[in-house]
Amino acid sequence: MNDKPRRFPLSLSSVVEQTKAATGKAVTPQTATRNVARHGSVQHGHTPVAGISPAASERTTPLVSEAVRKAMVVRVASQGVRDAKVLAAMEAVQRHLFMEPALASQAYIDASLPIGHHQTISQPYIVARMIEVMRANRNGGVMKRVLEIGTGCGYQAAVLSLVADEVYSIERIKPLHELAKTNLRPMRIANIRLHYGDGMLGLPQAAPFDGIILAAAGMEVPQALLDQLSIGGRLVAPVGARHQVLHLIERVGKTEWVDTTLEDCHFVPLRPGTM
Ligand code: SAH
Repeated sequence: MNDKPRRFPLSLSSVVEQTKAATGKAVTPQTATRNVARHGSVQHGHTPVAGISPAASERTTPLVSEAVRKAMVVRVASQGVRDAKVLAAMEAVQRHLFMEPALASQAYIDASLPIGHHQTISQPYIVARMIEVMRANRNGGVMKRVLEIGTGCGYQAAVLSLVADEVYSIERIKPLHELAKTNLRPMRIANIRLHYGDGMLGLPQAAPFDGIILAAAGMEVPQALLDQLSIGGRLVAPVGARHQVLHLIERVGKTEWVDTTLEDCHFVPLRPGTM
């Protein structure tokens, strides 16, 4: 962490500089390769902000987070995300509130970060990209119901809540399901429904969905999820093990889906069952 005095709003370059310095212990396997490619080598050890007590840094957080979040959105746009509604949603959701306080200072770097139980909060770019792809339907982006597999800390669900009428999100790890509830409760987002269960089965009782996003990578997309798409609905999912590719699968008929591969990505694995 750079200890030079900072002026607000922060310039994008100051945020990028901080990003380079901040990819320490917090870098996790999810996007380690990509993080290293972007920010240089992975260092170990987390540097606390010198001279700022937790209370003082908490007080300055709103100002810092707003400026840095704006810069994050500028960066996500420069990485190719064009959908204004998605960028506005990314700007509105306070990502740092989904992380434990020790990592909050890194909330806006372009990386996935640990949330416990060997899972991660996805990197901002991929969250935005997946939602953008899901929204680019033949219906002008109108999304009544969407389903997310892999709630984790609840961040992407919060972003989704700003682009869809109803958001359903499933998590298979009980403490993470509870964490997401704890994170989202004070935000009073009325249109999110969190479910504890195996997302590979989907949520037939709430189907069909106009959009489905998988935040974890399987070797294939479960048929149950394809069956729960509405006609014209779009599912976006990472597929693969070590080498993963983002897929868009659009349901074009009762028994017809069109699968398009988009770009390489790196997610935690999709696993069956609950724990
Ligand atoms: N959406 C989160 C990303 C969480 S990481 C974000 O906003 O950053 C992916 C999550 O998928 C993990 O919490 C993992 O436990 C969960 N997961 C993996 N397989 C799953 C399954 N079959 N059903 C539900 N959740 C699953």
